[in-house]
Amino acid sequence: MKYDYIIAGSGCAGLSLLYRMLREHTLQNKKILVLDKELKNTNDRTWCFWEKTPGLFEGIVHSKWNTLEFLSTDFEAKLELGAYTYKMIQGIDFYEYVRNFAQNFTNVTFLQESIVAITSEENSATVKTENNSYEGNYVFNSTSIFNPKITVENSLLQHFKGWVIKTEVPVFDPEVGRLMDFRLSQENGATFMYVLPTSTTAALVEYTLFSPTVLEKEAYNVALENYIKNELKIDKYVISHEEFGVIPMSLANFKKSIGKNIMNIGTAGGFTKASSGYTFQFIQKDVSEIISNLKLGKNPDLNLSFRDRVYNWYDRTLIAVLLSKKLTGAQVFTKMFQKIPAETILAFLANESTLLEDISIMKSLPLKPFLTAGLKQLIYKKK
Ligand SMILES: Cc1cc2nc3c(=O)[nH]c(=O)nc-3n(C[C@H](O)[C@H](O)[C@H](O)COP(=O)(O)OP(=O)(O)OC[C@H]3O[C@@H](n4cnc5c(N)ncnc54)[C@H](O)[C@@H]3O)c2cc1C
Repeated sequence: MKYDYIIAGSGCAGLSLLYRMLREHTLQNKKILVLDKELKNTNDRTWCFWEKTPGLFEGIVHSKWNTLEFLSTDFEAKLELGAYTYKMIQGIDFYEYVRNFAQNFTNVTFLQESIVAITSEENSATVKTENNSYEGNYVFNSTSIFNPKITVENSLLQHFKGWVIKTEVPVFDPEVGRLMDFRLSQENGATFMYVLPTSTTAALVEYTLFSPTVLEKEAYNVALENYIKNELKIDKYVISHEEFGVIPMSLANFKKSIGKNIMNIGTAGGFTKASSGYTFQFIQKDVSEIISNLKLGKNPDLNLSFRDRVYNWYDRTLIAVLLSKKLTGAQVFTKMFQKIPAETILAFLANESTLLEDISIMKSLPLKPFLTAGLKQLIYKKK
């Protein structure tokens, strides 16, 4: 049997695409195969993102904030987000929500198989798993099968360990999230804590670094314990959930398509913002554009707009500055948050700013390292 669409990988990007397909009456009867090596039945991650108006997944938003704190050794502020709201969705809620919705459609098949190859032919693409082979008009891939090589020369890694902690007595203000607390040793690269209280007695506390390599496992635990004790002043707590992640912040070329019939989506398609690691909101924009093309009967391979290319260049420039060690992450973000309203920074980081706002952000940063890195990135050929 030939499928209309094969979704290879049913994480954030695969299920976001599936959900939008099934809500579109011109696409919802297509034969769709969803493949993943995992069952996706655990809360393996928490996604945060920001938006101005409620999106498709508003119903499963776990917590939200209109005020975020920024702290460094030189500057501390509580930042009002203006038109934006910062939101958190739990992975398990998202997986269950989309799968439950998909159960209404007998034309959708979910299989748990490990993909070993995906190839593009003239009018179709084939997905090979360990024991089977499936053909589809288009394959939407979010596995790492086509990922470029990540090296210490072309990439930083954003690596983090998060604990959801619960206390007996109220200690948190659930109205205020802590976006970045840079008052930590910066010896391993840009290093900060991220604290998102979801009630007066519960918060996600995440130790995050942008650096070439990951740390020894125990180092994350020690940093979290010290921060909770010394900065949050909490002695008694239980850890109710843990997450660990490594996200590429890369100058390498994540290809958006392979041949005519394989589209890379999610991190695999380059939708992890190189300068911040945020991916959720970029996935939503990409898959909604794919759906618009499919509805019109067009090839879903999308060209990047001029503006998207400009944002890619900004991202690459920041990564190049951090890789060059001419400025630290703490210095860059402190300067930005000191001088620019949070709403403008969020617009910039969401690829939604105006050119004038971009210029105000550039003016808040030291010119020389950014100019040198920016010019190099203009002539640098992605490999
Ligand atoms: C712990 C964690 C926290 C994060 N927090 C945020 C956040 O707050 N905000 C944000 O914007 N981004 C965040 N990210 C980054 C990003 O949003 C996520 O990684 C997101 O899940 C990316 O979506 P994706 O669909 O590209 O990849 P995934 O969600 O990882 O989906 C890929 C799927 O492919 C499957 N797969 C892989 N290889 C194969 C194979 N060979 N065969 C079959 N299936 C395969 C996997 O099992 C997986 O289900 C986080 C990442 C992690 C790891």
